[in-house]
Amino acid sequence: MSTLLDGKAHSARVLEELKKVTQTLADNGVVPKLHVILIGEDPPSQIYVRTKARRAEAVGIRSEITRLPDTATAEEVLELIEKLNNDPDTDGILVQLPLPGLPTRKILDAVNPEKDVDGFHPINAGLLSQKRDCLVSCTPLGVLSLLDAHDIQTEGRDALVVGRSDIVGRPMATLLTHRNATVTIAHSRTQNLEDFVGRADLLVVAMGRMHAVPAEWVKPGAIVIDVGIHRTEEGKLTGDVNPAGLSERASAYTPVPGGVGPMTIAMLLVNTTLAALKRRGLDLDVAKHLVPKL
Ligand code: NDP
Repeated sequence: MSTLLDGKAHSARVLEELKKVTQTLADNGVVPKLHVILIGEDPPSQIYVRTKARRAEAVGIRSEITRLPDTATAEEVLELIEKLNNDPDTDGILVQLPLPGLPTRKILDAVNPEKDVDGFHPINAGLLSQKRDCLVSCTPLGVLSLLDAHDIQTEGRDALVVGRSDIVGRPMATLLTHRNATVTIAHSRTQNLEDFVGRADLLVVAMGRMHAVPAEWVKPGAIVIDVGIHRTEEGKLTGDVNPAGLSERASAYTPVPGGVGPMTIAMLLVNTTLAALKRRGLDLDVAKHLVPKL
């Protein structure tokens, strides 16, 4: 019998808890604020940004969206980030990716690490690699939260992370290493991906290739986390793992949609609250239970 790692249900629980935290903060005059920068007209980005803003408001976090046209220059974006970095009222800054024709790294690097609620800044990435207190990338953090919610132990297990991006694969592998898994990272130059997949007790797939991993590759009884999001020709959302036969093969798995996606948003809002507490020198313990331990 396979366990569905229901990110929708778990994220709802996390957000319910977060709401209690923000209510207490509001009673003390603190209302965290997230500022989202959206550049261009990318339709999925428009939806993501609206969803993030709606969820933020629902848990008592203020949100503001600045929309810039896809003709915006890097200088204009950097100027806006600088303004938000210096704005005492802004706790979290999120630059929605992808950026149309702009230097992504340069723009992300401009965000004040203390307001970097996506956890993409190299200072946060460096602190994470040294297992020190930092803002952690939301998607890998959400995966860890989901594993913890199901009491899935990682210690001593063979984990395979497919993908080595700065925002998902690499921080995911780091977190699993901190949790004492034996981690292998696969990427586009990996030979015989099927063999690596077949050996993994815990498989995290973040490669951005629809149904690239068939269920038959999965080791019987493995735990499968599918980070990928794609829209099929019929307009349905699906992942990097082909779900056909997966529930018979894996001992636990995330669905797409309703797995990792909702956890990413929940962790973004938790990070925003942590950033608000930290910037104001307040006690982080009120929200620490919402983030998985490193
Ligand atoms: P990137 O495109 O930045 O990275 C993809 C990674 O997969 C790269 O490291 C690449 O290797 C590797 N890869 C590509 N092809 C292969 C292959 N054939 N075999 C093995 N590895 C391969 O994507 P992201 O990390 O940003 O995102 C991955 C997926 O997750 C996407 O579908 C994205 O939409 C989704 N996503 C979902 C989120 C959620 O909340 N659910 C949040 C963020 C992303 P190399 O480094 O060699 O190029």
